[in-house]
Amino acid sequence: MQISITPLFSGSTGNCTLVQAGGTNLLVDAGVSAKSVTNALKKTGLEIHDISAVLVTHEHADHIKGLPVLIKKYSVPVYATEGTWRVMHGKFREIPRFQPFFVPEGNFYIGDFAVESFPLSHDAAQPVGYAFFASGEKVCIATDTGYISKGMIRSLEGSTTILLESNHDPYMLQTGPYPGILKRRVASRKGHLANEDCAKALCHLVQSGTSQAILGHISLKNNTPQLAFDTSKAALAECGIEIGRDISLSVAAPALFPD
Ligand SMILES: [Zn+2]
Ligand SMILES: [Zn+2]
Repeated sequence: MQISITPLFSGSTGNCTLVQAGGTNLLVDAGVSAKSVTNALKKTGLEIHDISAVLVTHEHADHIKGLPVLIKKYSVPVYATEGTWRVMHGKFREIPRFQPFFVPEGNFYIGDFAVESFPLSHDAAQPVGYAFFASGEKVCIATDTGYISKGMIRSLEGSTTILLESNHDPYMLQTGPYPGILKRRVASRKGHLANEDCAKALCHLVQSGTSQAILGHISLKNNTPQLAFDTSKAALAECGIEIGRDISLSVAAPALFPD
């Protein structure tokens, strides 16, 4: 495989994923402090100056927390949809010579990558997932979506690797500590993806060529990495798909203390 996806941070305490192909390194989201991002990059042998751009999925704090410092201190180009810029623009007004980069409709190019965004269903202004293409390969990142529509499935099909949200177990959510309003938000069509829905999508995607799946944005209160893994494993087995033989499955564990 030519493209690699490395989750540096995942979950409601902060999200940041490294996507690499050829000599191009991109980040999807920077939802932890800029210091945490640079420290995590160092562990992979990279400096912040090796990053060609940050692509933002949506404006929630767990996806953008590190952006102001990354822009101010390191002038990293940041891409977001028009709707996302509209709501987060105020955070960057003070930065001299600040230039927002807009995610256009259709393909756009950064270094060795062609990039395409696709809409997700989440309570944000214009949330998106991203597909990355390089050397004939495709990989996808899709987190923070209440459900997976037919259109999203089409955008994800044909990916060799996918980082997909497996946020919560519905029973743990219902019986867990969240207040009612938050439970309803997480479980809604504009909330977060349940383990079962993630598992169902994976069954379909393996048949479209996906051979590596990373489960991400795991809730600290309403899920466990083991439960997310086991739910997908069981659903895949029901479709005749065996982990290790047909697909490699891993979990991007939530960062407990990203800062
Ligand atoms: Zn999030
Ligand atoms: Zn969100």
